[in-house]
Amino acid sequence: MPELPEVETIRRQLVDRLTDRQILDAWSFPSPKFSAAPAAVGATVADVTRRGKYLLVPLRRDDAPPTQELIVHLGMTGRLAVTDRSVDRIEGEPHLRAWWSLGDGSVLTFHDVRRFGRIAVVDLGDHRSLPTLAALGPEPDSEEFTAEHLRRRVNSGSRRIKTVLLSQRVVAGVGNIYADEALWRAGVDPRARHLSRAAAARLRDAIRDVLSEGVDNGGTTLRDYVDADGSPGRNQHHLDCYGRAGRPCHRCGTELRGAVVDARSTSWCPDCQRRR
Ligand SMILES: [Zn+2]
Repeated sequence: MPELPEVETIRRQLVDRLTDRQILDAWSFPSPKFSAAPAAVGATVADVTRRGKYLLVPLRRDDAPPTQELIVHLGMTGRLAVTDRSVDRIEGEPHLRAWWSLGDGSVLTFHDVRRFGRIAVVDLGDHRSLPTLAALGPEPDSEEFTAEHLRRRVNSGSRRIKTVLLSQRVVAGVGNIYADEALWRAGVDPRARHLSRAAAARLRDAIRDVLSEGVDNGGTTLRDYVDADGSPGRNQHHLDCYGRAGRPCHRCGTELRGAVVDARSTSWCPDCQRRR
């Protein structure tokens, strides 16, 4: 599933190609998850921004400030791309869920094999129809994401640290891959339900670092993810923990463990991620 680094990689590619383009026409696959796509027709893209794993595209009409927002969540297998091919050439492609034709002759396409993605058009900033987005915690690189915030939010509940990270409510944008990487780097057991001040500080830094390195590497491609140019990421060559159960820890050589933690496959080092 695309996490913050994959969505940010796509955002950076789309911002120049979409900003100031008018949306002339649109189509959506007949499903309530995608049927909002044509509501953007007639508007002009004002910017391409991101919150957590959501792409947010503010829309303006005429020369007025933006009043609407096109929101895209890629789900498990969603792909956004800008193509110079005509709509006639695109229609009928397998797994095509939406397209928007743009004033410069290009077309923004959304393909999604497994259909866990989501498209919405809302009044700017009105995220009530998207509860996960409305309840997102701070961006990992924001001032609000402090070690104390992380420690307090983990220690005030009874959930395991990995589950807290995946909830999106304490910090935005971390999914299964980067959670395992950050916990390994910080030396924190993914099953722990409590963080010391020192562990919270290490984990806060590790979350920021693994996500920003993921962006620098163009995201992680294990199965499906490609960027808006159709290219895979490179971060899969730099993973220390995720998907490495049974192989030696890059830090201490101990065999990494793998287990399902709260329904998510999880890897960790039983030696350097001991509960403490
Ligand atoms: Zn180790």
